[in-house]
Amino acid sequence: MHTFYIETVGCQMNVLDSELAGSALLRAGFQQAETLADADVILYNTCSVREHAEDKIYSALGRLKNWKREKPDSVLGVIGCMAQKDQKLVFQRAPHVDFVLGPGRLDILVETVEKLFNEKPRPTKTVCASLHRATNKHTDVLESFRQYNPERTVRDDASPSLVRIMFGCDQFCSYCVVPFVRGPEQSRPPQDIVNEVQHLARQGITAITLIGQTVSSYQHQQARLADLLYQLSNIIGIEHIDFVTNYPKSIDDNLLQAVRDLSQVSKHLHVPAQSGSDAVLKRMNRHYTAAQYREMTNRIYDTVPGATMTSDFIVGFCGETDEDYEQTVDLVKYCRFRNSFIFKYSPRPGTKAAELYVDDIPEEVKKYRNNHLLEIQIEISRQLAANVF
Ligand code: SAM
Ligand code: SF4
Repeated sequence: MHTFYIETVGCQMNVLDSELAGSALLRAGFQQAETLADADVILYNTCSVREHAEDKIYSALGRLKNWKREKPDSVLGVIGCMAQKDQKLVFQRAPHVDFVLGPGRLDILVETVEKLFNEKPRPTKTVCASLHRATNKHTDVLESFRQYNPERTVRDDASPSLVRIMFGCDQFCSYCVVPFVRGPEQSRPPQDIVNEVQHLARQGITAITLIGQTVSSYQHQQARLADLLYQLSNIIGIEHIDFVTNYPKSIDDNLLQAVRDLSQVSKHLHVPAQSGSDAVLKRMNRHYTAAQYREMTNRIYDTVPGATMTSDFIVGFCGETDEDYEQTVDLVKYCRFRNSFIFKYSPRPGTKAAELYVDDIPEEVKKYRNNHLLEIQIEISRQLAANVF
């Protein structure tokens, strides 16, 4: 009986993928190892949103060289976004890795691992990835990013349960690698989601988090996120429903009314703004202005009593002047976020921003803006917690 260990970095998409992959391995007869060192199979579920995340993963993979030397029959696999982005490059930077499997091909994870144990001679370095969006026909690309929703057995510690309602992203924000590594946007049919949540509720799950890159844009035929929330709220046993991440332009009144009216639905919305400067938002390809973001914020607070918001910001994006940055500070102060996740811009190969704009903001300016904005946010969070507003 072989044992496995999954190391996960990155967002909730990866957390869910690891849970699904772990479930599939358990069903195939593998056992969960207590520690990484004990495992016969190590899967590294990776993130490529920022360069720093990738560097840390390659260092961690480097540290597994000794484990591989001591257990030469073991299997080391790289899955997740970096697998799709780097493909064969992974073997150059970490030659002891056995296979690389993109997030759109998790459907063949178990057979890939089993082949490595069973086939003699052992298959050499395999890469299984989805097609690149820029160089292939859309229908072929869609087909190559497989929707992966195997049934899961709920672990004791798996609460609240993540439920994916959308795959991929079609927004193409100029800085972001996600549309390339996670593929085209695909909303799951509402009935499939309802069935999955009913299955989870039967196993005792009471709280769910609906996940997708732009959940507020969920659309399957006529069904939108508001419709889905009404359907899911009717499921007996489901007491709490959260959803992340929202896209500012698709927060409409129907959605806000559903959030207001459904007692099971969280009154907290995570809506990444990224910047408060129109010039920067335009270069980021975000399709809204700071004024439109403010207007959306007003609608949220006016429609949903007691609503709270959190956001994401990128500081030091190409060409961000002091005035642009000050506009971001103003937006943060105006919106009274409960919290903000603040990132320094990191150019990602293959994205429009990396192609079109110079990464011209010095590292120390990025660092200063990151810390400064964080201090402002911390003060707002403190005042909100103390009910000063
Ligand atoms: N789909 C979500 C959205 O639209 O905000 C989240 C996607 S991304 C995984 C999470 C956050 O990472 C983004 O909101 C953005 O702030 C940040 N991010 C994405 N690409 C980045 C880059 N190249 N450099 C720095 N931060 C980045
Ligand atoms: Fe990336 Fe923009 Fe899609 Fe979010 S909406 S995943 S930031 S491209």
